[in-house]
Amino acid sequence: MALDTRKLRRWYRDYNHRFFGDSLPADALIECVRIEGCWGRAMVSDGRPVIHLSPRCRVCRSVAKMTLLHEMAHVKLWPVTTHGPQFQAEMQRLAAAGAMKGLW
Ligand SMILES: [Zn+2]
Repeated sequence: MALDTRKLRRWYRDYNHRFFGDSLPADALIECVRIEGCWGRAMVSDGRPVIHLSPRCRVCRSVAKMTLLHEMAHVKLWPVTTHGPQFQAEMQRLAAAGAMKGLW
């Protein structure tokens, strides 16, 4: 069974507003796609974010939300795709802003 993509888009809009100052494109394409070896992935195509979340994220709402936040950090830092210092700093910023509250 796939994830509820309408719910994912609602979470994206909400997170974009609360934690990214609406700086991420509003027209992100968020899909539930079978992915081997990871929970999600993000890319930007013609300025439009594409976020894929694995159906395995259904296992837990917190996992789905944290994976979405992780992928949104990738969208913000695009075209940097690694989990290096920039990415770590962005995740720390999100945590300090309260994005992980109730999730970890
Ligand atoms: Zn990542």
